[in-house]
Amino acid sequence: MPDHEAVTSTLDPLDWSELRALGHRMLDDVIDDLAGVAEAPVWRPMPEEVRDAWQGGLPRGGAAMADVYREYRRLIAPYGVGNRHPRFLGWVHGGGTAVGMLAELLAGGLNANCGGRDHAPIACERQVVRWAAEMLGLPQDSSGLVVTGTSMANFVAVLVARTAALGAQSRRRGAGAVRLAAYAATGAHLCVSRALDMAGLGADALHLVSADAAGRLDVALLEQRIAADRDAGMQPFLVVGTAGSVDTGAIDDLAGLADCCARHGLWFHVDAAFGAIAMLSPVLRPRFGGMERADSVAFDFHKWAQVPYDAGCIVVRDHAAHRAAFARSVAYLRRETRGLAAGEPWPVDLGPELSRGFRALKVWMTLKAYGADRIGEVAFRCCALAERLAARVRSCPALELMAQVSLNVVCFRVRGGDDAVQTRIVADLQQAGRTVLSTTVIEGACVLRAAFCNHRTTWSDVDLVIDDVVKAAMWAAEPRCLEDVAAL
Ligand SMILES: *Cc1c(COP(=O)(O)O)cnc(C)c1O
Repeated sequence: MPDHEAVTSTLDPLDWSELRALGHRMLDDVIDDLAGVAEAPVWRPMPEEVRDAWQGGLPRGGAAMADVYREYRRLIAPYGVGNRHPRFLGWVHGGGTAVGMLAELLAGGLNANCGGRDHAPIACERQVVRWAAEMLGLPQDSSGLVVTGTSMANFVAVLVARTAALGAQSRRRGAGAVRLAAYAATGAHLCVSRALDMAGLGADALHLVSADAAGRLDVALLEQRIAADRDAGMQPFLVVGTAGSVDTGAIDDLAGLADCCARHGLWFHVDAAFGAIAMLSPVLRPRFGGMERADSVAFDFHKWAQVPYDAGCIVVRDHAAHRAAFARSVAYLRRETRGLAAGEPWPVDLGPELSRGFRALKVWMTLKAYGADRIGEVAFRCCALAERLAARVRSCPALELMAQVSLNVVCFRVRGGDDAVQTRIVADLQQAGRTVLSTTVIEGACVLRAAFCNHRTTWSDVDLVIDDVVKAAMWAAEPRCLEDVAAL
């Protein structure tokens, strides 16, 4: 029976020394893991006994934390995604840093709820948003939030653009008979259409416009489409430019899109999920001309800025428009001019979430500790690695480059192999724990895709990837066993 007369029900230990020692050991272990990450396999599949371990029911009684930690080391630590590893090139994933990890620890310790009120974590988040605006070339009084990722940031942007187009009453009554239309390039990320879906406008409200040979949205076609949709009784309201497409790294003609939006009175949003961080590199920045004219920009800190998952950001030029899309007042969230309930606007006035963790701390610490220039150099170096891989592909008779390299993504193919062979090579290399690549489809053909997004990747990793792919292609062409690949 629970003892209701007990002096305290605290979950804190009576004696902190044991927990403290365990905490120190965890820190040592995880720093060891990070320091040795390149020597470990990129990824390894979960063995059956590990999968089976996830079937247990709700633990009614507790266990010693040391035992729970031992389970973590056995069941979880070895079987992550692998994105910390220098040869994780499969998807656009950041590698994380020890600085970001320590910031997560501090944020967990502080346990701040960043939905609102007047406290330093909110001030820290506002500073991060101002830094983001500076990076993007947007005004310093732009509004914004640190959110989970670009999917959420795009969703917030769609809601702001919708309210700006239809007026505040649409928040109560919905869009009614108005048929809103949004536009993006065919290579736009799926989360853009999902944002329209979640906003209740329907995924079909996103009209995809063909891209040119370099993967950039064709602005002349966009103009025609807008005119045709108006004639058909629709209300165009939003253009989503992509600055770094997920498939090929293509960057839309942002200045051209800004001109088009200005001509037609449309909201200009940019999905710069990873591209935004490239603006910290003076060499790469000119490719993003026109970004400074966006009404809103969505991007991630967890990709190229190497902040641990999750951390994305939405920046909105017009803070009044941003607030108009979300702010509501209720008695239990009453604002005051002093005390803890002061400090308007609160993050809850700017997005869908009320309770929120202190994500901004790991961003703030990353930018403070490394400096924005160093992060920009990481992005630049990743692009140089992509160029090197593309050069190696071009000079290798067994391989074929399948898309222009605009930034950090290289799409290539093993000559003479059908789509199944390309897929098999990727899976074999993943299972061997050597290299993680992914596949995508370019002009109807399945291709291998390498995205450079990790500060740990070196030139010799690029050479290893080429060697691995060529060897795996040889094995893929004839019966072979995985041990052969593992022994590469
Ligand atoms: C990764 C990515 C997204 C989605 O961002 P999340 O942080 O995964 O939600 C959107 N657009 C582009 C171009 C991306 O690369």
